[in-house]
Amino acid sequence: MKQPVVVLGAGIVGICCALELQRRNYQVTLIDRRGPGEETSSGNAGILSYSNITPLADPSLLPRLHRLILNLDDDWLVHYPHLMSLFPWLLRFVLRCRRETYLHDGDAMAALTQASIDLHKQWIAEARAQELLNRVGGLKLYRHRQTFLRDQLERELLDRCAVKHTLLDPGQVTDLEPDLKPIFAQGVLIDESVSIRNPEKLCKAYAQMFTAAGGQIRRASVQSLRQSAEAWELTTDQGTEIVSRLVVCMGAWTPEIIGQLGYSNPLAIERGYNTIFSPGESANLSGPIFDVDASYVMAPMDMGLRVTTGSNLTRREAQPNPRQVARVIPRVREAFPVGEVITQDPWLGRRPTVPDTLPLIGPAPRHENLWLAFAHSHMGLTMGPITGQLIANFISGAKQPFSTLACDPARYLQA
Ligand SMILES: Cc1cc2nc3c(=O)[nH]c(=O)nc-3n(C[C@H](O)[C@H](O)[C@H](O)COP(=O)(O)OP(=O)(O)OC[C@H]3O[C@@H](n4cnc5c(N)ncnc54)[C@H](O)[C@@H]3O)c2cc1C
Repeated sequence: MKQPVVVLGAGIVGICCALELQRRNYQVTLIDRRGPGEETSSGNAGILSYSNITPLADPSLLPRLHRLILNLDDDWLVHYPHLMSLFPWLLRFVLRCRRETYLHDGDAMAALTQASIDLHKQWIAEARAQELLNRVGGLKLYRHRQTFLRDQLERELLDRCAVKHTLLDPGQVTDLEPDLKPIFAQGVLIDESVSIRNPEKLCKAYAQMFTAAGGQIRRASVQSLRQSAEAWELTTDQGTEIVSRLVVCMGAWTPEIIGQLGYSNPLAIERGYNTIFSPGESANLSGPIFDVDASYVMAPMDMGLRVTTGSNLTRREAQPNPRQVARVIPRVREAFPVGEVITQDPWLGRRPTVPDTLPLIGPAPRHENLWLAFAHSHMGLTMGPITGQLIANFISGAKQPFSTLACDPARYLQA
């Protein structure tokens, strides 16, 4: 008989855990209060990025830390009433802004990223979801040469991790994306990055593979978790059930549940917004761009050109702050002949992040038969499949493809 496992949270991470566990012959139930991939995993920039291996704790932040704290730049927007409670997190974060930790954490992120994109490529083919792909490659663009020079350590990390990238002069940027306005001094093409035209559809395509193979998806709101004898007592708005093995993948909402077991909350919530432009008349963008100096990513999607913002460091449920979207809109128009904004209100998503930027993947430090997979920050869409594979290896006792120490939950959940 197949052994049962319950996975909580049907974002990209939970879906990938469910799918991979099913492939190891477990009987898997996936529980979420919404449909698969309808929360954070729906509104992101859709990039499966080989270069998104750069820890946020970057030494080049230190000289402009005062600007970030004073909200003078658009990549960070700190909500001041939240600053005091954020202080311990920020302290740990700033202490990691060192070259050695940056390269160490970046190596670990590269291992996760490269393995995960390989799996995505297989799964996209299996799900027959190739129509969701843009042209291969992601473009990082610099308006100012100083910013490009500032990011030297990032390129050192890309070289060290063998991430293929090509430096482009302004003419080569135009050759690649002829409709971009000629305002960029430098481009860096991440040659092999993949991007998805509708991340929610990708989640649903993977969820469909899971249900087609006999997996069960249930809609319920998780309320509490209690250890009882050898098992777990899980209470949702549908009632209480006894569960033998449990994987918690509830993204930014995970601390609420594991907090009931005594684990402290390790997360800062980097909220991010998206807004959608109609493509300008006869203007075409073939792949995603990251306009570094203007702090936005623009990606061609089924529904139009999706523009995502930097981080709004605030409480998870605080009122949306329209400032980053408002400031980004004119900067987008400087770079590309977009049409009108077609979303009424910006979409709001939550990136759950720990100070070293690496996700928490593995067994809960003080509890048997409980595994955690959350805190995927800016890279959860990319890292979903490898997270599923690592969790399935932990549960089944299979050998891991590389050391998982860097994402051990115990580093932040001493309880
Ligand atoms: C603006 C923005 C741009 C981004 N761009 C990219 C990108 O280009 N590439 C990339 O790789 N990543 C990107 N990310 C990050 C990525 O979106 C996340 O890391 C990823 O979606 C996290 O997936 P998850 O499954 O952990 O969380 P989620 O998608 O948030 O899933 C958690 C699930 O838990 C469920 N849940 C929560 N509480 C309960 C409860 N009580 N009961 C039942 N269910 C519950 C929720 O409904 C949800 O479905 C971006 C994020 C943002 C905000």
